Amino acid sequence: MAYFLGDFQQELHRRTVNLGPIWTNLTGPAKITRMFLPAQIIQKKRDGQALTEDEIRSFVDGFTRGTLPDYQMAALAMAICFQGLNFDETLWLTRAMVESGQTIPWAPGPFLVDKHSTGGIGDKTSLLLAPLLACCGVRVPMLSGRGLGPTGGTLDKLESIPGFRTQLALAEFMRLTNTIGCALAGPTAEIAPADKKLYALRDVTATVSCPALIVASILSKKLAENVAGLVLDVKWGTGAFMRTPPAARALAQALVAVGKRFGKKIVVLQTDMNQPLGDCIGNALEVRECLDILGGKSQPPDLLEVTLALGAEMVALAGVPNQLAAHLASGAALAKFKEMVAAQGGALDRLPVARFTQSIPAPNAGYVHSIACDQLGYAVIALGGGRKIATDKIDFAVGFEHPKKIGDRVEAGSPLARMHFNDATRAAAAAAIVRSAYVIRPEPVASQSQWITERII
Ligand code: URA
Repeated sequence: MAYFLGDFQQELHRRTVNLGPIWTNLTGPAKITRMFLPAQIIQKKRDGQALTEDEIRSFVDGFTRGTLPDYQMAALAMAICFQGLNFDETLWLTRAMVESGQTIPWAPGPFLVDKHSTGGIGDKTSLLLAPLLACCGVRVPMLSGRGLGPTGGTLDKLESIPGFRTQLALAEFMRLTNTIGCALAGPTAEIAPADKKLYALRDVTATVSCPALIVASILSKKLAENVAGLVLDVKWGTGAFMRTPPAARALAQALVAVGKRFGKKIVVLQTDMNQPLGDCIGNALEVRECLDILGGKSQPPDLLEVTLALGAEMVALAGVPNQLAAHLASGAALAKFKEMVAAQGGALDRLPVARFTQSIPAPNAGYVHSIACDQLGYAVIALGGGRKIATDKIDFAVGFEHPKKIGDRVEAGSPLARMHFNDATRAAAAAAIVRSAYVIRPEPVASQSQWITERII
């Protein structure tokens, strides 16, 4: 067992053992190891050495309890970004993060299934899938995250609904999942608290796009949820943390391998994120888009294909008939979404609306060849719709509508997207980011027609 000096005093109070020298293991004389300072553990990883399970657990425990400061956790996260973690280290980090809180003790009942994405631009599939799956008769306890880097977060989208409570006590989260069929909330003091703290720290320390940290972050939440089946959407492309299909495949394989070691039924779909998903980017705009889709008023083909493919995997894991399209067409999923929002205190009729809208003109005529999709996420942040530092308050109303997609024809001055904003200075900066994100060339290019690029089990 490895100990930190900060924890040492607590151990003196907790244990009634005969203490030897400071290097003695407090669990008893049989296992004697050295005690490491946090800085030595950071140094070990910085220099490319593998950490032990005890070192990882001590670090996570200290960080979760607040005895280990953020700057040391940030330094370790950065060392992990450079040096990576091997399979065992990833497993131990995941387990330590799960055990930083409780695992939900579900009563027997309908199958428990969840879905999670590695993060994208305009990705609102969770908001659609939770009610759709609940209509299919399974339970969906969805613990989600906030925006990370340029990618949007399900929690931020939900918090754009006035009154919506994302911080649910465990008992309420369980009750809503059992009675309504779905609940969407953030990690709490009870469930995966280590991820809650680390996620916020990674967002502002450039330590997001690190496969081992992504695996531990996603799986710790999902294992603490204690679902039986898990479907993951691993995105790749200019709007994803993994830029290429091979990088996404490696992450997907790690997620599957670690998830299976914890006994979960798990499927990963690898999806293309080289352009925004659906018609809106920005928190309240995306919630409104979901209402339109669930209400049958809008059918963005990319968003529907990804949503229904992920949903099909979820019903297959649960062993229930796939009635997703029927629940979409009948309005049942819309009614379920409204029921869930009302139960969590949200008022959908008071979604915030930006004071101004304005088209962003294309700089030249031609066809959209590529989009630096992450830049569209940064443009939302520039508008105030995401965070630059962990304590930033979000302007939920801002964002973009109808972004042009790859293969679209534009004329000089015709709209690349419609911007919703509240502050003209921020809008000017965001518009410049959007314009520079688009590569427009004279020769035509095919539109994209397929978004699922691989299935990994
Ligand atoms: N989603 C998460 O929950 N964690 C990550 O690290 C990335 C995406």
